[in-house]
Amino acid sequence: MATLGIPQNTIEILQKYQFRFQKKFGQNFLIDTHVLERIVEASEITKDDCVLEIGPGIGTMTQYLAEAAGHVVAVEIDHNLIPILEETLSSYQNVTVLNEDILKVDIQELAQTYHDGKPLKVVANLPYYITTPIVMSLLEGDAPIKSITIMVQKEVADRMQEGPGSKEYGALSLAVQYYARPQIVANVPANCFMPRPAVGSAVIRLQLYETPPVMVKDEKKMFALIRAAFNQRRKTLSNALQNGGIGVTREEVTQALRMMGVSETIRGEALSLQQFAQLSDALFEK
Ligand code: SAM
Repeated sequence: MATLGIPQNTIEILQKYQFRFQKKFGQNFLIDTHVLERIVEASEITKDDCVLEIGPGIGTMTQYLAEAAGHVVAVEIDHNLIPILEETLSSYQNVTVLNEDILKVDIQELAQTYHDGKPLKVVANLPYYITTPIVMSLLEGDAPIKSITIMVQKEVADRMQEGPGSKEYGALSLAVQYYARPQIVANVPANCFMPRPAVGSAVIRLQLYETPPVMVKDEKKMFALIRAAFNQRRKTLSNALQNGGIGVTREEVTQALRMMGVSETIRGEALSLQQFAQLSDALFEK
């Protein structure tokens, strides 16, 4: 029975082990059973799934995941949490806890070891200080991943989901949308966590594509182009790219934009993923 989502039980176990929250690890533990149930429901886990949980904390969500999944591999960086996890997860035979930094874990090897190389489902209440590096390494890496259901800062969830014309639209939106279909499934207020974070949160589900929704000849060059465009987002695209260190001149950019039938004074924030792919192919085809 999952029991830790109840605040009193969380307080008791924290006191028993005299646990001290570490700010540097982004520790905000969930204390709301409705939110926990919503995350597990949105991740559509079945007994055929192997779940990778990033940052189990005291094992609150891990208990819910263990009840729904075939196996759960939980990667936790803070060694002070390991004895707590041993107690809170002792009745689950299908959980493996690894005391490691997720950014240093070979997830492909992990999928091989725990799920015969089949795709994993990632579920996490992420440490907010490294949300983007974690998400990007999951999306860009070679590990087989089916979906990623994560709690992130509300503002970051918005950035992942927005399209051209919105002020949240940027390099993260395009990177996420190249690899996955994002969908915000819940907004979560600060009082659902202990301690309370200073920001609002949201649960977002990223359903990974088998093939990207746009074709591009060199995706690395396209992402370098996108980064350059949004590094100076207030400038026109031709000015931003000319100074963007990607080896293209202003004239080359304006010519490519003309060819695409797009205004020469357009800013990067108005271009869709499809148009960035087109521009990248036009600029870097040689
Ligand atoms: N899943 C728990 C919950 O929902 O109550 C805890 C979530 S808390 C926001 C983030 C967790 O990630 C903490 O337990 C923290 O120690 C862990 N963490 C932080 N950085 C990490 C890293 N690089 N690798 C693995 N775990 C990390």
